[in-house]
Amino acid sequence: MLKAVKVRLYPTKVQQEIIASQFGTCRYIYNRSLALRKFVFERYGKTLAAHDLIKRIAVLKKRHPWLKDADSQALQQSVRHMDEAYRHFFRRVKKGDTPGFPRFKSKHHSRQSYQYPQRIRIDGSKVYLPKVGWVKAKGLRPEFAGKIKTVTVSLEAYRYHAAILIDDGIETVEPSHNGQTVGLDMGVAAVVADSEGVIVDPIDFERELLKLRKCHQRLSRKQKGSKNRQKAKMRLSKQNLRIANMRKDFLHKLSTRYSENQVVVVEELNVKNMTKSAKGTEEKPGRNIRAKSDLNRSILKNGWGMFFEMLNYKTARRGGRLVKVPPEHTSQACNVCGHVSKENRKSQSHFKCGACGHTANADVNAAKNIRDRGMTGYNASQQTAA
Ligand SMILES: [Zn+2]
Repeated sequence: MLKAVKVRLYPTKVQQEIIASQFGTCRYIYNRSLALRKFVFERYGKTLAAHDLIKRIAVLKKRHPWLKDADSQALQQSVRHMDEAYRHFFRRVKKGDTPGFPRFKSKHHSRQSYQYPQRIRIDGSKVYLPKVGWVKAKGLRPEFAGKIKTVTVSLEAYRYHAAILIDDGIETVEPSHNGQTVGLDMGVAAVVADSEGVIVDPIDFERELLKLRKCHQRLSRKQKGSKNRQKAKMRLSKQNLRIANMRKDFLHKLSTRYSENQVVVVEELNVKNMTKSAKGTEEKPGRNIRAKSDLNRSILKNGWGMFFEMLNYKTARRGGRLVKVPPEHTSQACNVCGHVSKENRKSQSHFKCGACGHTANADVNAAKNIRDRGMTGYNASQQTAA
């Protein structure tokens, strides 16, 4: 099984410079091969494969000798990444989506990275990065040795990290066949409500958001080009990273918990989900009171895609499965009698069926509808498979 571990790196000044030039050359190769592929496709209607583009690197090296300073494996890897992005793009076009065309990588992007696609040595608290040398690291464990598949070096918020992909050679994880199917509703009043009636409260980002606002204010007061502005910028990006990490942590815990079920059913993400916080009860004049919690919620809402990915691989590795169902009317339908009406939803959290009088927490009622929808779909697809 593949596992990713992130360790902090502490490169020396000289090593930092080498890493910076690796970022630059890998980005250059990524952009060059993307441009070439685009050009050849538009001009000749032909698609260059990744190995054709990798061969081109040698030609480029003759023209630009500085490319030789970079690790050639890492350069090839950035071509493969570009290829992946490109193919992912066409897969989505085929499915009828309108994704953005693969973008050129910018020097000014807040996160810089490159990847070594080979086994990399570690020794105690040091990791050997080709062309860079032995770099001090925190979080390495002796058991990583010999199991490393790829290493991604990144710089974000002035911190260096290595994301190490490890193959632990263990093929199966403890399978979960508890036979349970659970539906999850990304609720209005709660972050997640499940069909068992559990309501998960959101984590409170308010203090962190307040700090973030202060970081923004401080930055805006600093003079352009000054050392202090540089420092304020650093604080701001650190705070952003902190919030992102808190969210990731929360979603990891939540997805681990729900992956114990055999089947987890969620709604497909779409426009309805995105505007969900705006409905429920009609907007009242005292909207500002809700503004803060809206912001809090929007942070989590933007993480749903990530949450579903986590759920997907976590259920899969335990022998379970994630099912996505269309979201139409899941919040307006009565789970007992099936009656659908806007009137059923009395408020954000209160559901009362106009036909049979069934009352419930609105998000839990929705989660049950989602579960039932997933179960019918799931059974149907199993039958056709048999
Ligand atoms: Zn009813």
